[in-house]
Amino acid sequence: MARLIFLGAPGAGKGTQAKLVSTSHSIPHISTGDILREAVSQKTPLGLKAQTFMDKGELVPDQLVVDLIRERLEQPDAANGWILDGFPRNVAQASFLDQLLREINQDYDCAVNFEVPDEVLVERMLSRGRKDDTEEVIRRRLEIYHEQTAPLVEFYQNRYKLFAIDGSVSVEKVTAEVEKLASF
Ligand code: AMP
Repeated sequence: MARLIFLGAPGAGKGTQAKLVSTSHSIPHISTGDILREAVSQKTPLGLKAQTFMDKGELVPDQLVVDLIRERLEQPDAANGWILDGFPRNVAQASFLDQLLREINQDYDCAVNFEVPDEVLVERMLSRGRKDDTEEVIRRRLEIYHEQTAPLVEFYQNRYKLFAIDGSVSVEKVTAEVEKLASF
């Protein structure tokens, strides 16, 4: 069983790696970005609230994402492991997650930080061509990452739960490193 938190800037490869580990360990890949994009395309109340923030590269208000994470982690398929991808995104969300996991008697194994230089991130995001991947929005998302999400590295370091991985090498090499952590 593995419970992993994937940290790293947008474009660092969290989603790609999360999909692979999710398959190899038969645990759900929980991506708040994917859940929100689905809500936007279905025009649900959540999607309608989230869309303006996502289009600008801003974070969606914490309350929206913490509610959806609570609901998702309480589903039966998440009882035996999971990979969180894109959540938490700031210290408030990370504190909420600690509290939620205490409530549901779970704990995470570690937070995995995918380290990739900014220039590589911009190039990768421009080449994947997602709707919110225009250069201006990409730059804003990176700014928000450095301001709000990067402090989580210290948050998990202080808890002796952080593992750093070089995310700029090939997908296969990164997967090999992630698998070591997932198979602990
Ligand atoms: P991602 O696919 O993880 O890059 O997320 C795409 C967009 O969804 C982000 O730019 C945010 O607008 C929003 N989003 C995803 N996860 C979160 C989160 N944990 N907190 C706030 N906003 C989020």
